[in-house]
Amino acid sequence: MRTNFTPAQLADPATAVAEAAIRKCVHCGFCLATCPTYVLLGDELDSPRGRIYLMQDMLENERAPTPEVVKHIDRCLSCLACATTCPSGVDYQHLVDHARAYVEQRYRRPLIDRMVRGLLAAVLPHPGRLRLALALARWVKPLAPLSKAVPPIAVMLEMAPDRAKPAPSSANATVLGAKGRVALLQGCAEPVLGPEIRQATVRLLNRAGYDVIFAPGEVCCGGLAHHMGRDSLDAARRNVAAWTREIEGQGLAAILTATSGCGVTLKDYGFMLRGEPAWADKAARVSGLAQDISEFLAGIEMPPVQPKGLTVAWHAACSLQHGQKITTLPIRLLEAAGFTVCAPANAHLCCGSAGTYNILQPEIAGKLGERKAASLDALAADVIATGNLGCSLQIGRRAGTPVVHLVELLDWAMGGPKPARLNP
Ligand code: SF4
Ligand code: SF4
Repeated sequence: MRTNFTPAQLADPATAVAEAAIRKCVHCGFCLATCPTYVLLGDELDSPRGRIYLMQDMLENERAPTPEVVKHIDRCLSCLACATTCPSGVDYQHLVDHARAYVEQRYRRPLIDRMVRGLLAAVLPHPGRLRLALALARWVKPLAPLSKAVPPIAVMLEMAPDRAKPAPSSANATVLGAKGRVALLQGCAEPVLGPEIRQATVRLLNRAGYDVIFAPGEVCCGGLAHHMGRDSLDAARRNVAAWTREIEGQGLAAILTATSGCGVTLKDYGFMLRGEPAWADKAARVSGLAQDISEFLAGIEMPPVQPKGLTVAWHAACSLQHGQKITTLPIRLLEAAGFTVCAPANAHLCCGSAGTYNILQPEIAGKLGERKAASLDALAADVIATGNLGCSLQIGRRAGTPVVHLVELLDWAMGGPKPARLNP
């Protein structure tokens, strides 16, 4: 596609990346059928191709973002199904990232929107604050019907679990005669809302013969802020510094995450910090070591299994299948652990979780969540498994089938406890 950015505009590296993405789009429209918002809303402006038009016009002409343009960019889930489909290799991820940052810097959102986004950015990346916020939410949950006028607040109250879960240990977990040493991302929401995921991951890695360390100084990956167009470079630098100390100290075989949404961000640190000479090489090294837990487990010798005879409906998180292009590894791991695996219809479509999307766009997210839960329930499997906490929460609220993390099933099959959600 023809573009008319000026040399001065293209001197900005982020604009140059956006221009290259726009230029690659040939407007073939193949991406429309795989875009969840287009499938749901049927509006070209809520399709990848339509958004590319809008973003080009806004960025090329340096227009102030209008409410209409912001609406269509905000409705994008950043699920990257379009990037998987696109035959021209349009780098939609970095294009929409740049557009979101542009909007964030130049558009004054309505007061409620600003307040909700500010609250999410201030609370979610900090487990302590999130724990406190959820405790407060439990107190005011009975008032949830009164909050219907502000849907994001109503969704947050509705999502608050009835009981707090104990925090998982952040102590390094070592084994005698370890085959290697891996860092595990601690995450922000996961230890609060799904501590069983870290516990199962550590048991599994230890049993496979790997020391698991938690790097001092590590913070939230920055993905949630990034998704809202906010600056996440400080988080990236702090994590790169924390893991660089480990790499250059006792060494790391890999930097792992059991939340695939965070994995996309870790693997992007090299790109995000490419223009900062003090950080570029270190960030590229960290991104090179970053792996989803399924990638790492698929490449090592796993402990013997005790088959459980269950059928698993595999929900492929967008951040795994589209963001990291990991499609078959989790299924192969489950099958090797003795599970029968099936996949739902339209497995490529997002469940509507998408970082903070289910809070900021509750109506679209709710419809996508209902569709996904129905297609998974239709498989009549014993359990639904996924590799991303956000998907577990989004689907778990709607599906009749219990939802667990991939590592909980693998851990159980290899000598760990039965996942609590599978207990009657
Ligand atoms: S599939 Fe790719 S090239 Fe075709 S319209 Fe979509 S983004 Fe553009
Ligand atoms: S990232 Fe997902 S929601 Fe956004 S345009 Fe692409 S397919 Fe559509």
